[in-house]
Amino acid sequence: MSASRTMRVCALYPDLMNIYADRGNLLVLQHRCSWRGIDFQLSGSGLNDALDGDAHDLYYLGGGQDRDQRLCADDLLANKSDALHQAAARGAIVLGICGGYQLLGNSYELGPGEALQGVGLVDVATVREPGPRLIGNVAMELGAEFGAGDRAMVLAGFENHGGRTYLGSDARPLGRVLAGHGNDGHSGFEGVWRRNVIGTYLHGPLLPKNVWFADWLIATALGLGPGELDALDDALELAAHTGALRAAGV
Ligand code: GLN
Repeated sequence: MSASRTMRVCALYPDLMNIYADRGNLLVLQHRCSWRGIDFQLSGSGLNDALDGDAHDLYYLGGGQDRDQRLCADDLLANKSDALHQAAARGAIVLGICGGYQLLGNSYELGPGEALQGVGLVDVATVREPGPRLIGNVAMELGAEFGAGDRAMVLAGFENHGGRTYLGSDARPLGRVLAGHGNDGHSGFEGVWRRNVIGTYLHGPLLPKNVWFADWLIATALGLGPGELDALDDALELAAHTGALRAAGV
């Protein structure tokens, strides 16, 4: 891979949307870039901050409690939605985790008469229905588009959500559940995927347990094929992945 590349990441609401230490995902991106000599620039965009849809290669929205999602939803629409649409249209990655995933969709209905409007980057709608929260370890299989060769691309992580997310006719799931609840507890689907926009319920945080996916994000954000990134010694990371799969019973 040619040297002197820069990966520019913007974390949205890093103080509010950061449940289960989702910040670990940013650390993985940072270290895997720096270990390869790729410059890494991290900035944040909080409540009332404007967002530049041209300035970053990856926009990141972590998980959050309903209370914090309420605070962010209006601000997303007012101050950041246009930039996120612009960024997605020019090929930047937009990654939403759990509460962040829900807000990338069309709506999150919290209860009778209360719905948060999402930014509508993906055609999903989330509803808080009666029934227990969907909690536990998850394993899911992604399609060949994410892989190299015919190796199954598997993500392992942990979910904890009250909302059930339903895919609209324009939405494609990120993967198929091998173990766990996934989007709604019964469809067998997990997450959503529209080109470079990705939403998933997987915490863990996601990327420390699935570094192959971190590399897919880095490569895609930089316009490279996954095979173009320098190989790293991933013995510890693979052990973390295997441990997470084992926790999910896979
Ligand atoms: N508050 C949302 C829900 O419970 C998302 C939770 C999360 O980010 N873990 O569905």
